[in-house]
Amino acid sequence: MIDHRRLGRELELFVSDPLAGAGLPIWLPAGAAARHAVEAYVHELERRAGYQHVYSPLLGKRELFALSGHLDYFADDMFPPMRLSPDDEFVLRPALCPHHALVFRARGRSYRELPLRVGELGGMYRAERSGVLGGLSRVRAISLNDAHNFCALDQVGEEVAAILALIREAHAALGVRPAGFRLSLRGPGQRYVGTDEQWRRAEDLLREALNGVDVVEAPGDAAFYGPKIDIQVADPAGRESTLATVQLDFDKPEKFDLSYTDSDGGRQRPVMVHRSLVGSMERLFAHLIEAHNGAFPPWYAPVQVTVLPVDPEDPGQAAAADRLARDAVALGLRAERDGGGSLGSRIRDTARRRVPYVAVLGAREAADGAVALRLRDGRRLDPRPAADALALVASVVATRSAALLP
Ligand SMILES: [Zn+2]
Repeated sequence: MIDHRRLGRELELFVSDPLAGAGLPIWLPAGAAARHAVEAYVHELERRAGYQHVYSPLLGKRELFALSGHLDYFADDMFPPMRLSPDDEFVLRPALCPHHALVFRARGRSYRELPLRVGELGGMYRAERSGVLGGLSRVRAISLNDAHNFCALDQVGEEVAAILALIREAHAALGVRPAGFRLSLRGPGQRYVGTDEQWRRAEDLLREALNGVDVVEAPGDAAFYGPKIDIQVADPAGRESTLATVQLDFDKPEKFDLSYTDSDGGRQRPVMVHRSLVGSMERLFAHLIEAHNGAFPPWYAPVQVTVLPVDPEDPGQAAAADRLARDAVALGLRAERDGGGSLGSRIRDTARRRVPYVAVLGAREAADGAVALRLRDGRRLDPRPAADALALVASVVATRSAALLP
């Protein structure tokens, strides 16, 4: 049974220290390197799709979350407010939506700006009970790939369809296998904001966007402000979880009195689409670690190339190895010189850490400026000029292929 907590320890991706607190994992350099590569990719994917990125604080005034409805409907999932003075109370945010509503409201908006897509990889906090916490799959500090797309009502269908296409693209690059779509609706025993009319309209729009897609309905799983599409993924054991989601919200634009000027000069209320392509970095990596058994595709492997001189005591080999590692780093690759020890133990160490490419050089290769690549899957390539070997690795990385060779 593959367990991301055990692999996280073995591969030194993250650590959960009781002194820091349960559900508050720390990303170690290897995990942070992989996460950074994924974040940069998602940021670029969104930028090309017309998203504008912002930064907003983890902490906000109590009134902000009273206005958004979180304090009324979501308080059980939030940390208690912090009081600086009797009329100055702050909360750790449980969601980014209120801040992004303020981005929309930062100045007057015209219909020409819509859809306005506000993106952020932002932190938020959930007061999960300590009993349910474990590794990265359930945490209290969450780094969410989030965006809020403000649309005119007649743009919603197309916008949701475009988001679903982006989700497919991101999941394919990450090597995530979709397991199905879920339409999460209102259900009994839960409290919701908004009118029946708003909910019906939002459900109709989501059903339209899902046109033709097989979908399982999940009554009771909607957000408190609107229905949503959840894109399920399955781990190797077949357990399903949600990474990506698309939610429709008519309520917050009203609460925050958001409006834009339409082509006739009148004021219109936008619709707010909450969406995440890959979910939180924590839950995403809990899934990726297990789905790939720690052997990430080269483009987000923590170390892509380990340079391994057969005899590190030989000055010629040591110098050639240093040069190759430096050249690889200069080329934008994550590369390292191996640590030392017997040749066998060094090769075993790179295999244990799932390094996709090991660049081996002995006396002859060092003299020739050549290197022999050993691939993570056991394949060995003939010695070739060092620059060619690095170009080969860089080309695989650039295409974000899961395969180790072009
Ligand atoms: Zn939101």
